[in-house]
Amino acid sequence: MKAGILESIEHLAVKEAPDPELLKGSVILKVKVCSICGTDLRTYHYGHPRIELPQILGHEVSGEVEAVASEVTYYKAGDRVALTPRIACGECFYCQKGQHIYCQKSLTFGYELQGGYAKYLLIPSLGVQYGVLNKITDSLSFEEASLAEPLSCCMRAQKASKVGHGDTVVVVGGGPIGIMHCRLAKVNNAGKVILVEKETKRLEQVNLASVDSIIDSSKSDLEAEIIALTEGRGADVVIVACSSAQAQEQAFSFAGRGGRINFFGGLPLRQSNVSIDSNVIHYREISVQGSHGSTPHNNKMALNMLARQAVKVSDLITHTFPLDSIEEAFRFAESRVGMHIAIHP
Ligand SMILES: [Zn+2]
Ligand SMILES: [Zn+2]
Repeated sequence: MKAGILESIEHLAVKEAPDPELLKGSVILKVKVCSICGTDLRTYHYGHPRIELPQILGHEVSGEVEAVASEVTYYKAGDRVALTPRIACGECFYCQKGQHIYCQKSLTFGYELQGGYAKYLLIPSLGVQYGVLNKITDSLSFEEASLAEPLSCCMRAQKASKVGHGDTVVVVGGGPIGIMHCRLAKVNNAGKVILVEKETKRLEQVNLASVDSIIDSSKSDLEAEIIALTEGRGADVVIVACSSAQAQEQAFSFAGRGGRINFFGGLPLRQSNVSIDSNVIHYREISVQGSHGSTPHNNKMALNMLARQAVKVSDLITHTFPLDSIEEAFRFAESRVGMHIAIHP
């Protein structure tokens, strides 16, 4: 099969890889869409502690069941499905406690397991049993379904940071994830949603109905603007949806009393030290939360939200590329001209 393989740092090649073999209890998925995540771009440049190269990256996957082993009864060839990338072991301390997200022995597609930038993907028996494939309704496109993965992570983050009634939510980073966070905040009854983005031109291609104010951080004094927009109080919730240490540090300057800060975007490997004034946390009683990943149940909830159009994402996939042009697609994603970029294997 054809696959996009990260051979070494910044060397992404489209090559022939062996077709997956249908093992006992497994499912073979025909990948329809794998969308490019910020994590893939960071791995392309810096590598990742959990990824041994060469590796086929990609974890925002939707597709069609191609074949199922005889032991598998819940799925059949032709089923349309979305993938939850992480398989929890079911045996470790956290899995036994029901906190699968903290599994100490998890395996993730595009990390320890082959990713979705390929024509086929083997879902091993452990993953089939864990429920990583959620069936999707015919009303959802494969592009939309591939965004259930990031949306489910956003949903977990907003729950953890208690986005609620009347909150002023500041989202830093106006990429597809940032826009999803804005839309979700309104579903979660936020009062005011403020989006911070330095390349405001790219925002013109998407629906911004859920955003009350946009701040162009390249032109304005971010702290002063947010303080002014919140009657001097600062934000109730700040979601840092970009990969920037500076943005993480800055969040403390405009988080209000009792504010919740969510570090949603990870930072590049070996560039993840930030400096904070801990007295700001102490006296303003600020909580700082990190969020990443999701479970099959989270993924299902995200698919439900997409299916009933509570959060719409179709406008966020602005460009699609064939697998053959994956390196071009990565460069395009970094140009920040488009929004979400989908690869069609
Ligand atoms: Zn992702
Ligand atoms: Zn576990």
